[in-house]
Amino acid sequence: KQNGIAKPDWLKVTFPAGENYRRIDQYHRLQGLNSVCRSAACPNQGECWNKGTATFMILGNRCTRTCSFCNIGDHPTEAPDPREPQKVAQAIAELRLNHAVITSVTRDDLPDGGAGQFAALVREIKKRSPHCTIELLIPDLQGDKEALATILQEAPHILGHNLETVPRLYPQVRPEADYHRSLNVLTHVRTLAPTVITKSGLMLGMGEEYAEVITALHDLRDHGCRIVTLGQYLAPTRQHYQLKRYVTPAEFDDLAAYGRRLGFDHVEAGPLVRSSYHAEEQFSAGKAQ
Ligand code: SF4
Ligand code: SF4
Repeated sequence: KQNGIAKPDWLKVTFPAGENYRRIDQYHRLQGLNSVCRSAACPNQGECWNKGTATFMILGNRCTRTCSFCNIGDHPTEAPDPREPQKVAQAIAELRLNHAVITSVTRDDLPDGGAGQFAALVREIKKRSPHCTIELLIPDLQGDKEALATILQEAPHILGHNLETVPRLYPQVRPEADYHRSLNVLTHVRTLAPTVITKSGLMLGMGEEYAEVITALHDLRDHGCRIVTLGQYLAPTRQHYQLKRYVTPAEFDDLAAYGRRLGFDHVEAGPLVRSSYHAEEQFSAGKAQ
């Protein structure tokens, strides 16, 4: 139950646990590895890990921002770990991932926002796992184009930056972010590195209106976004931004159809969708265009 609203059946999942899942699960236990899949208790672990997809967080686990939906503590004090790129790339190689998703907290305290660490990691992954596709889900880097170019130089396959919600809710949901600055991250990727596939995502059920979601989809297309994900928001605790409603599977289907008509290469929409859910299929769809 969230905000007094009972959890609908469509959010209850069965957990497929095949051979790949067991291998990756065991690796987590043996190496003390903490992927986003595990720390966020993502309901898709069985499915993603079986397909050889996992998500990692870099640049620490404390953030300079205070988004009200997020469970990550604020104010980082630590310098980036210079061994982190090698360590994460090594884990990706040993896990034999087909598709690695890397995200980070926002590091407004660092001069490059952490761009150098992303770039170093892409280099390390390419060295050790040449067949692994690489998807980066980056913060807005405060709109710093030079920092963005540092990352794009290493040619990740997908570069994502999430809008998370509609602009009206930014003051309550992403107080330090700016809707247009976030959209411009995608435009800059299109101009600086046209072959890199652009991606974004929104969480629904936060109090947004249908028309506002439609406008956001148009804005994303107008800013060169090629893949979009739409999923159900769930509050991590009662202290976080409260869920306003559960969006039905039929509503997600309707939005997905709308997005496809708008010309996105791929729309992933559904109650359990997270940014990195079905990421490999999204990449194939983007590549085929
Ligand atoms: Fe991990 Fe993302 Fe899949 Fe969840 S959706 S299990 S976070 S790769
Ligand atoms: Fe969480 Fe990202 Fe917001 Fe930081 S910027 S609080 S990591 S959602």
